[in-house]
Amino acid sequence: DEGWLAEHMLILGLAAPSGEKSYDAAAFPSACGKTNLSMLIPPKGFEGWKVTTIGDDIAWIKPHGDGKFYAINPEAGYFGVAPGTSYESNANAMEMLKANVNFTNVALTDDGDIWWEGMTKASPAHLIDWQGQSWTPDCGRKAAHPNARFTVSSKRCPSLDRDWDNPNGVPIDAFIFGARRSDTIPLVVEARTWEEGVYKAATMGSETTAAATGKVGEVRRDPFAMLPFCGYHVGDYFAHWLAIGKKVAKPPRIFNVNWFRTGPDGKFAWPGFGQNMRVLSWIVDRCHGRGHGEETALGFEPAYDDINWTGLDFTPDRYAQVMKVDAAMWKRELAAHDELFAKLGAKRPAALSAERARLGSRLAA
Ligand code: GDP
Ligand code: MN
Repeated sequence: DEGWLAEHMLILGLAAPSGEKSYDAAAFPSACGKTNLSMLIPPKGFEGWKVTTIGDDIAWIKPHGDGKFYAINPEAGYFGVAPGTSYESNANAMEMLKANVNFTNVALTDDGDIWWEGMTKASPAHLIDWQGQSWTPDCGRKAAHPNARFTVSSKRCPSLDRDWDNPNGVPIDAFIFGARRSDTIPLVVEARTWEEGVYKAATMGSETTAAATGKVGEVRRDPFAMLPFCGYHVGDYFAHWLAIGKKVAKPPRIFNVNWFRTGPDGKFAWPGFGQNMRVLSWIVDRCHGRGHGEETALGFEPAYDDINWTGLDFTPDRYAQVMKVDAAMWKRELAAHDELFAKLGAKRPAALSAERARLGSRLAA
């Protein structure tokens, strides 16, 4: 009732070369990039920027007298997916994992070290796999379990924010919602209103990974990335989110992102990881009222020239690919939203039904 939130969100700090600092909280389903985003290292073209980590998984958020929401990370460490973690994707994590770490279901090297798929380009010639069996690169099995994990104290994180343990928390400028979608969902969209943002988060779907049970690669609705954690009726949870937007004078802007669109070759069309900074800096600009956005059926989107491309060769054609809104795919997407809402019965908030109607007519226009 007091407008508190307990969310499956990372919290990061963004310090611009000017000294201006913002904080964002971002929700992604398990194995969709929270730990990586929370420790992002700005790429070439973002000299002088610094990303700092408050938390990589959980945020407790409450209204503050200054009109903003403040968030704390209630955890004292990180519990991350090991496979895919490398100096290329997350150098901060690799530094953090050098000592005083617990690993589960990784592979063992012959000299007593550990290894997982994606840690290095070439795999070792011999390992003991996660099931304790002898492993060679040609044996046809994975050496580490796809959901092998590390757990380590926050204090080992090289990008740890000065205020990571501040009991007052940090002021949140943006809520970001993201999931794993090889198609349909654009790279980034800002919601026009709080209600539109809540609608987008409520209807979020993600392609399943090894972190979830069931078939890998199927789109599953995961409202607010809270499917495994929501402890009460999700209709009441949506209503709570709709209500808390009115608890503070300056609620965060709400953004949707998707780092996982694939191209015709089946490969990721967006380079991701550190390059996600380009999207974050547009978000910072929007939160400070100076970034340009084009209004579309889905909300406000950056035009190609609204993004800082310095240091990355990413053509307007490739950008169009990661931003594309396909009518047939959105028809399917809306049907999936309706299926989710049908399950809510009488708990379906009227404001979300209104958002659904608006979205339908905008897409049809
Ligand atoms: P978490 O469980 O939400 O904290 O997710 P992680 O940050 O541990 O990442 C889960 C998986 O997603 C790992 O295999 C990462 O390599 C991958 N991943 C994270 N960020 C990105 C990204 O920006 N692009 C792509 N293509 N993969 C990513
Ligand atoms: Mn994580």
